[in-house]
Amino acid sequence: MARVFNFSAGPATLPEEVLKQAAAEMLDWHGSGQSVMEMSHRGKEYMSIQAQAEADLRELLAIPANYKVLFLQGGATLQFEMIPINLLRGKPAADFVNTGEWAKKAIKEAKPFCQANVIASAEDKNFSYAPAQSTWKPSKDAAYIHYTANETIGGVEFHWVPKTGDVPLVCDMSSNILSKPVDVSKYGLIYAGAQKNIGPAGLTIVIVREDLIGQAVPTPPTMLDYKTHAENDSMFNTPPTYGIYIAGLVFQWLKKQGGLAVIEKRNIEKANLLYDFLDKSSFFKNPVRKEDRSRMNVPFTLKDEALDDEFLKGAKERNMLQLKGHRSVGGMRASIYNAMPIEGVKALVAYMQEFEAKHSK
Ligand SMILES: *Cc1c(COP(=O)(O)O)cnc(C)c1O
Repeated sequence: MARVFNFSAGPATLPEEVLKQAAAEMLDWHGSGQSVMEMSHRGKEYMSIQAQAEADLRELLAIPANYKVLFLQGGATLQFEMIPINLLRGKPAADFVNTGEWAKKAIKEAKPFCQANVIASAEDKNFSYAPAQSTWKPSKDAAYIHYTANETIGGVEFHWVPKTGDVPLVCDMSSNILSKPVDVSKYGLIYAGAQKNIGPAGLTIVIVREDLIGQAVPTPPTMLDYKTHAENDSMFNTPPTYGIYIAGLVFQWLKKQGGLAVIEKRNIEKANLLYDFLDKSSFFKNPVRKEDRSRMNVPFTLKDEALDDEFLKGAKERNMLQLKGHRSVGGMRASIYNAMPIEGVKALVAYMQEFEAKHSK
């Protein structure tokens, strides 16, 4: 069996060890005689799996005790709506930093609920940078400030945490959560769909400060109220049990690697390898300002887009898949999440060198 290097932006590659363990436990989890998929979510076996996953996530991110961890469904996209429903707390507005495709979606979905103020934007330079906080113009009546920590499509990442004083900071961390340590106490709410850097699609994680729960709009739909899920340990209804189990195995894998500080070092090493090559190349190019480049998603273009198909075909022959850029921007994109081994990045750079040499004659 040959596994490919999968550079997909999401659903994305998972650690091989995790997949092997899941395979070994598929028919009989820990002598229970059942697959995790078949277990009652209210039985003691499954309850222990979910409790362990939460405990490991709390340990990895050092989540303070006054924060709830919610295991939800609906993707980060449903959070674009649940956040205003729950966090406006009677205020008329929320502030947004517009850094690209995902920020724009968060803004659009908040608009039916409030005045969505764009207090900073990178649109002037085609979303190629993270606007410095000195340029932000926060409004007086905003219930929270929302930003996208990593623009999965544009490849722009914040390598700093905004300071918002008493105004809760809300962050879409879908594509860089668990890629480095974060100080959770600086945030009111962090959310992430699992399928980029955590586990299978279908699970969404929300980490929310307790005082922000229970202040939703009047008579919110039960399932869209954080309080419902917080009060029921994410078991108000059936949670995405198998996704939570796999996420739990990924959390254990991260702990075994040495935790998020070790993972961050590896991610820096992998990203540097690729960006250093891109900067030296006169054939390939990355459009993002150096200090804001994403360690997770690396978009790049070829000198001549007529060569895109040949590049992708050659990559496939070398077992490197999903390098095609997002349909909205074209070009290429290499997603190099936690689970992408450095060997994958080395193989990609070697191939890019070879391709450049062939076409630079
Ligand atoms: C993928 C992604 C989303 C959307 O996630 P879904 O789970 O498909 O709803 C939102 N924000 C960011 C930054 C993403 O990468």
